[in-house]
Amino acid sequence: MNKNQCSFCGRKRSEVEMLVSGQEGFICENCIEQAHAIVKDGKKSESPSPAENVADLKKPKVIKTYLDEYVIGQEQAKKQLSIAVYNHYKRLFHSKEENREVEIEKSNIIMIGETGTGKTLLAKTIARELNVPFCIVDATILTEAGYVGEDVESILSRLLMVADFDVEKAERGIVFIDEIDKIARKSDNASITRDVSGEGVQQGLLKLLEGSIVNVPPQGGRKHPDQKYIQVNTQNILFIAGGAFDGIKEIIERRLNKQAIGFSAEKLNHTEEEKYILSQINAIDLRKFGLIPELLGRFPIVTYLDALDKETMIRIMTEPKNSIVNQFVELFKMDGIKLEFTESAIDKIVEETMEKGLGARGLRGTTEKVLEDFMFSIGEQDEIILLAEDVQMSS
Ligand code: ADP
Repeated sequence: MNKNQCSFCGRKRSEVEMLVSGQEGFICENCIEQAHAIVKDGKKSESPSPAENVADLKKPKVIKTYLDEYVIGQEQAKKQLSIAVYNHYKRLFHSKEENREVEIEKSNIIMIGETGTGKTLLAKTIARELNVPFCIVDATILTEAGYVGEDVESILSRLLMVADFDVEKAERGIVFIDEIDKIARKSDNASITRDVSGEGVQQGLLKLLEGSIVNVPPQGGRKHPDQKYIQVNTQNILFIAGGAFDGIKEIIERRLNKQAIGFSAEKLNHTEEEKYILSQINAIDLRKFGLIPELLGRFPIVTYLDALDKETMIRIMTEPKNSIVNQFVELFKMDGIKLEFTESAIDKIVEETMEKGLGARGLRGTTEKVLEDFMFSIGEQDEIILLAEDVQMSS
């Protein structure tokens, strides 16, 4: 058992907000939420039934509006994702039609963006909106068949678990593959040595992505000969991959310079320039980064998430339905205490978090630390007005 990672999705301690320990493993907040959703859904006597025809499907704009409630900024990614998801489920109906002449191919998605910018949040939110099974897997725990680690099929074991082993349901689910950039080929010349961690796994993923019938070990992990398998057809499973792709900006820049587009002449400031460069990303850049062409061919949609600037971080603190500010206000309210965050305190919390480089993921930790003493001496005050000085003192 690895003490430093979630036993369910494989994320490392440093990548999650918390790891809760059990007798034989650990679970992170993402998986807790997933599990909670399953329990809740299970208890619901009448869960909303999935769309039965194209007219029932939520249109891209409706999906986007729902995403807006939870994910701040990232307009381009939200738009592209809403369209891709709509087309994906439309395709499901199309494939049922008889006498169809045109075969619509699947549109799996790659999301590129720094850590803590909302990639997982986007995928998770969209799955919740569509009421389809959703699971997160970390690409780094996968290995090529025959090596130490988990076989790629274990991805589907997780989806099956989330779908309560209802195969038909799992076959319409969404899988989020995190850290896809970590299985990039290490060098452009792959023939010198066998690249166990990278290219082999990419090859292994192909068969899941292209839509085939896969033998899935129900308990996940490694396959062994006398195990019973569950057959899962991956044709209609939507795969969303995410990664930070450190250094991709330079690769895009080089390509753009080569094409002599001359974007620097447009007098953009640093953030705008970065946004512009990232918006130009395409499969060529990802190939340069080390993803094999066959894999890229199965991810026709490439989208990017903006780095979070201060203003967006402030909005993340305050705007979403379950924003951090709202959560803590609620927590104190349960003791009859009125908690108020001043603008300058929020400002300071954001500044401190940005220094940590964890993206919005760090906001909760900073706030928790700032409120530590107030929570310790809870009940001693009826009203707390949090000032910038309080934030300063706690750090
Ligand atoms: P990653 O891009 O590394 O997958 P996550 O989606 O896991 O990042 O983000 C971590 C946490 O930070 C989320 O659970 C959410 O609370 C917050 N967060 C990150 N980006 C956003 C955003 N754009 N809008 C709202 N919350 C966000």
